[in-house]
Amino acid sequence: MSKPDYYEVLGVSRNAEQEEIKKAYRKMAMKYHPDKNPGDREAEEKFKEAAEAYEVLTDPQKRERYDRFGHEGLRSGGGFGGFDFDLSDALRTFMEGFGSFGGFGDFFGSTQRRGGPVRGNDLQIRLHLTLEEVAGGVEKKVKIKRYIQCDQCGGSGAKDASSVKACPECHGTGRIRQVARSIFGQVVNIVTCRRCGGEGRIISDPCSVCHGEGRVRGEKTIHVKIPAGVATGNYLTLKGEGDLGPKGGPAGDVHVLIEEREHDLFERHGDDIVYHSKISMVQAVLGDEIEIPTLSGKAKLQIDPGTQSGKMLRMRGRGINHLNGHGRGDQLVQIVVYTPESLSREARGLFEKLARYKELIPK
Ligand SMILES: [Zn+2]
Ligand SMILES: [Zn+2]
Repeated sequence: MSKPDYYEVLGVSRNAEQEEIKKAYRKMAMKYHPDKNPGDREAEEKFKEAAEAYEVLTDPQKRERYDRFGHEGLRSGGGFGGFDFDLSDALRTFMEGFGSFGGFGDFFGSTQRRGGPVRGNDLQIRLHLTLEEVAGGVEKKVKIKRYIQCDQCGGSGAKDASSVKACPECHGTGRIRQVARSIFGQVVNIVTCRRCGGEGRIISDPCSVCHGEGRVRGEKTIHVKIPAGVATGNYLTLKGEGDLGPKGGPAGDVHVLIEEREHDLFERHGDDIVYHSKISMVQAVLGDEIEIPTLSGKAKLQIDPGTQSGKMLRMRGRGINHLNGHGRGDQLVQIVVYTPESLSREARGLFEKLARYKELIPK
């Protein structure tokens, strides 16, 4: 899906100053704020777009990358999802940028204004991969410690069904009508009930195992499918595999950070791998067929007569699969001609004879 141009989103020129960008964003954000456009998906989309554009264009590093490479420039630095904003990011941007402006804070409320179930924390794990695993992709089972649902209460946090009561303050709706004065004039605003935190219910008798949390510390084995071609610094996000939220709140995500292990035989250069192969002087002169290791077992490689030390031979398609694409890199074999450091008397005699031949002298 192609994204709109950030400058166009805010309606500013490409060399707009920070102050101008801030002003333009403020105008857009005020117009499309979800509180002013309840249930309007298009306005929400515009609100998110504006916040994302603002975040990028007011960050000198991000702006420079965006100017040079466009949206693709913001993908570097890991991650397969690129740079994406959801509504909570957009609201945070708005609150950070303008939340403390005179009068705004009241109108847009505190961060708890949205209420409802609280989302669990995101977790981060590191996954160490061998070059073989990187080359072909791999599926891993990882055990993680995280909050899981309390079995005793089924996640409700209550001792039993009778200890869950409708909140008397909001009559179980979780919301309260409030008249507020704001920059938009007088507005009837629906706010989250403070008594129950927007849940609409209160627990008179909490569960004895989780003490009303609805969740307990536990362990879970998750399956992580790593695509071929990843590199150190890439990460995957597993939605909903993180900590379960309290009282049945949705789970956070797990971010899987990729780290490559060094390989004994191969060096990685992008999607190519490099192997150094020693051959004898005789093989270099006369040519030979040698056997070398690859990521998928041994393979034969032809050495032509007259091969120089340092020559790079290319074995097509023996490297690492391209990430998110087709085809794969190559294996490069650098030939190193081995010079013997000690000789038997007989071999020495042969070399002394060879020394007379002019074709052995480097050109
Ligand atoms: Zn419980
Ligand atoms: Zn309530």
